Amino acid sequence: LKDLEKRYTKDGNLIVNKMNLLIEKGEFIVFLGPSGCGKTTTIRMISGLEDVSGGDILIEGESILGKKPKDRGVSMIFQSYAVWPHMTVFENIAYPLKLQGIPKAEIKARVHAAAEASDITALLDRYPAQMSGGQRQRVAVARAIVIKPKLFLMDEPLSNLDAKLRVSMRTELKNIHTRENSTSIFVTHDQSEAMSLADRIVVMNKGIIEQIGTPMEVYQDSATKFVASFIGTPP
Ligand code: ATP
Repeated sequence: LKDLEKRYTKDGNLIVNKMNLLIEKGEFIVFLGPSGCGKTTTIRMISGLEDVSGGDILIEGESILGKKPKDRGVSMIFQSYAVWPHMTVFENIAYPLKLQGIPKAEIKARVHAAAEASDITALLDRYPAQMSGGQRQRVAVARAIVIKPKLFLMDEPLSNLDAKLRVSMRTELKNIHTRENSTSIFVTHDQSEAMSLADRIVVMNKGIIEQIGTPMEVYQDSATKFVASFIGTPP
């Protein structure tokens, strides 16, 4: 992200204010900050769901701003399980591949591989209504990874799950990231989620980056008062 900016109205406040961030291939990055600090806006700009007001977004050195969302090599999953109710699990996961015109045999193989990675192989013939919230979110994950995205964006994907499932799905998401060799951005306002998942945490506040660092760095060596209070460093 290069000097990335967003305002929603012409004379409005900068919701994202000259944000600069270099993410390495394979990293698991967590955007952490209070409600309204601009986390979701930032990843929506990366995925192409939102226009940018200034600056640039590059993947592998190339600006993606002129590209349609489907051509950016980016997958996104949301808080709510955005799976299609009228399609089986198999059809849900296969859909993005069908859009790309991929041959049937390859679709089948890739859907099975993604389903296995998300541990839902036994559910491929079911409809979303016949599944739990956690299982539906696994379908959304499988549908996101099946296209082998360059960047996997997750917007508070665990916040609709109960506390126990949240913790176990955390580990699963990290394992999927590692197995798939993904590069991931995970948005949350939950400190413990950030600490347990991130290679590096990007602490955001009011549209600016307060600190970028490993969980230990932001915890032990907070760059600002805001980071110290938000992460909870003892005095
Ligand atoms: P949360 O954790 O609550 O999802 P967030 O850090 O992801 O918060 P954003 O959703 O990016 O924050 O919102 C940042 C700011 O931009 C907020 O003040 C919000 O009200 C404002 N905002 C978001 N979407 C729009 C929009 N479509 N039009 C105008 N303002 C918006």
